[in-house]
Amino acid sequence: MSEDYKLAFADDLGFCNILLSAIGGDGANMAAKMLFKLGVLEVGLDGGYDAKYGSEKKGTPTDVSVRFCKAGTAVRAVGPTTRAHILVVFHESLIRPLALNKGLYANAIVIVNSTKSPEEVRDILELNSGRVICLDASKIAEETHSRLNMPMLAMLCNVLSFPAKVVEEAVKKQWPRAAEANVAAFRAAVSTAKEAQFGADGKYPLVEFSESRGGLGFLNMLPGGRIDALKHSTVERDNAEGRLGPNPIFDAEECTSCGMCLTVCPDPGAIVWKEKKMTGIDSKFCKSCMRCVEICPRTGRALRDPHKKEEAKETTVAGEKK
Ligand code: SF4
Ligand code: SF4
Repeated sequence: MSEDYKLAFADDLGFCNILLSAIGGDGANMAAKMLFKLGVLEVGLDGGYDAKYGSEKKGTPTDVSVRFCKAGTAVRAVGPTTRAHILVVFHESLIRPLALNKGLYANAIVIVNSTKSPEEVRDILELNSGRVICLDASKIAEETHSRLNMPMLAMLCNVLSFPAKVVEEAVKKQWPRAAEANVAAFRAAVSTAKEAQFGADGKYPLVEFSESRGGLGFLNMLPGGRIDALKHSTVERDNAEGRLGPNPIFDAEECTSCGMCLTVCPDPGAIVWKEKKMTGIDSKFCKSCMRCVEICPRTGRALRDPHKKEEAKETTVAGEKK
């Protein structure tokens, strides 16, 4: 650990509390795990970690708490964070329904995936005081072929002053196949983010944390979010908000229904299979990771990456000529 490293915040127990608010399937849990690993193994901090995750959270609001303290501090708090110094919001649309200003400390840091200005986001959040950082993480993820969680993690590491080089090396090592895309997403996030600082000007009061975070939560939601507990049906779920871009293009006539795509798809329900045949891709569940396109033996024909339209067309034409 660098002797010079200092946590920007500390509560009465010595913790800097970070809360990530996302939709199940966004990769917030994975990003927080990586953050925790970086903080402990690379920066030499101590702390705790708490996540709500699992297949039942897919498509529903979820959050992850990370708390850091100086190594050697007694860890005397566990479970979800109720008061955050740093809030990371994967979708601006979650702010109001979840009342994400509840429990924020004065002078908090808020990182939001949004195309809006920090001033507009401050008003949506009704932030008492602090620093608002906005980045178009969805667009960055799509353009770099990375995932939404990477630009959000990049900004979080940036505000925590984790050394950029160390972070990039760790990310490359963790996800070697996506190293180039993830590093591109990290750099784009840091270079394009817009931020503004707001003093406690009396525009919005500090809001205490309360158990119910607004309209959605475990008190008023069916078990497993929008999964109907009685029918155990997922038909009403919609993960489209976590999508990275356009879905793969499927051509039923080129598909042999070999099932290889099913073995790699991380989102059950994204690949539609009827009567022993692959029949299409459900855009409510497909997050556009393109793993199916990579593995498909008839890639470029049965399944095509819409980002590579021309290449796909050429492959198709070549394939047809054979
Ligand atoms: S991997 Fe390709 S050919 Fe096989 S079922 Fe999926 S789309 Fe069809
Ligand atoms: S791109 Fe393919 S593998 Fe990825 S979620 Fe969509 S259907 Fe599944």
